Formats: sequence, C-alpha cells, structure tokens
Amino acid sequence: MGVTRRDVLIGAGGLASALVFGAPVAVGEVQAASEQPAGRKLKVIVAGGHPGDPEYGCGGTVARFTSLGHEVVLLYLNDGAWPPTSAAIRIAEAKKACELLKARPAYAGQVNGHAVVDNGHYEEYAKIIEAEKPDLVFTQWPIDNHRDHRAITMLTYDAWRQLQKRFSLYYYEVSDGEDTLQFSPTHYVDISETESSKRAACYAHASQTPDRYYALQDQVAAFRGVEGGYKRAEAFVLQLQSPHDPLQVLGRP
Ligand SMILES: [Zn+2]
Repeated sequence: MGVTRRDVLIGAGGLASALVFGAPVAVGEVQAASEQPAGRKLKVIVAGGHPGDPEYGCGGTVARFTSLGHEVVLLYLNDGAWPPTSAAIRIAEAKKACELLKARPAYAGQVNGHAVVDNGHYEEYAKIIEAEKPDLVFTQWPIDNHRDHRAITMLTYDAWRQLQKRFSLYYYEVSDGEDTLQFSPTHYVDISETESSKRAACYAHASQTPDRYYALQDQVAAFRGVEGGYKRAEAFVLQLQSPHDPLQVLGRP
C-alpha cells in the first residue's frame, strides 16, 4: 500500500490541512486559534444593542480586564438617539462611560429601535468584528424582550460563524425580567472590587434613568454573587465550540 492521503495530512501537519481543506484562514491564524491566549494582552469586544447595555451587563468585568492591561471595545449597534434625547447627548454619555472603564466606544451604524438583520448587515457587521481581531466577544442573550438586543446577538453569532469561530463567544444578561429571560449562567466573575467603576459608567448614561435601571441590575449582580460565592458578580454563558475560555484569566468560573 502506498502513502495514503491521511498519512500525507498527518505528516505535513497544519499547513497541509489548511491547504487541502481550503480553510479560508492563514496558517498563522490556525496556529493562533489553537494557542491558549493566557499570558498575553487580550482584545475584548462587548457588543450591545444600545449605549449602556455593555456597561450594565459587563461593566465590572470590563473594569477587571482593563485594570489588567487588556484592551476592551464597547460596540454599540446604534447611537441610542431617541426623541427627545439626541445622538450627540447619547454619544457623549457613552464616551464618558468608556473613559471610566478605560474602554473604547465603537458603533455599528444602525438606528435605535429599527434594527435590521439581513444578509447585507450580516456581512457589514462581520467586517467590523474582523477588523478588531478579538480574542473574545460578549454579546446579549438571544432571548430578550428588546428587538435591538436580539438583533445584535444574531449579528454577533453570525460573525462568529463567518470568522470560523476563531474567537470565544460569551452571552451576558441585562435587566432580567424586563429584558433578558431564561438565562442560566456557566461563568461568574467577581466584581466586588469593580462595582463602583461599573456604577459610575452606568450613571454616565444620565439620560437613561439610571436610578431605576441600576437598582435592578445591582439586584441581579447581588443574586449572581450569592450563586457564584462573591459579594457581587456578573454572570455569563460560554458558547459551545468556542476555541478557549479566556474568562479564566479573571479567576475561577
Ligand atoms: Zn438596550
């Protein structure tokens, strides 16, 4: 028996595999995806339907990442403008919130309350994600009462698939009962020390009745803290088939 196709693939390693199977990624990227990113600077995206969603759902976790020197982008589907509140006011609020968390704001260019999920927007959104080269992306939970929240999650999940699942994907919760429903976490992050930064970032969205919404979100953080064994926690669901579990850099799951 001569040399089989299988022998050739095994003998030549990843390079041959990438070429033979026609994977549309460079060999370097294949190797990077198989390498646990612990120990180097991570690129994190937190996607949300509106300015404020990433801060409410992940603000304490974002502060922990940035305090360790990791880079975090808060990617908003739209600018949050809604009469009588202008886009300028909402963008200024988001800028302040990001400064408090040492993160950077970015926008996906859609219109508040009018999210579009179609082939063109799937492609356009995936390009935004690809350009940032994230190691991990957080997005909202797909069962959510707000259409814009469901939209950002469909767009993010599709980008994850288009980009060959090369980054780890997590889901977060906001305003459970009013927005997120049926969320069963797989991961808990201790935010006891960063809750004050999170609170300040949420209150930077002063036009969005933070007294009401932060009180609700803080109840969620206290409850997740009880579950996770912390004073305050943010909770997440890791998407199956993610390449790594980089939340481990913040401690136990
Ligand atoms: Zn929202």
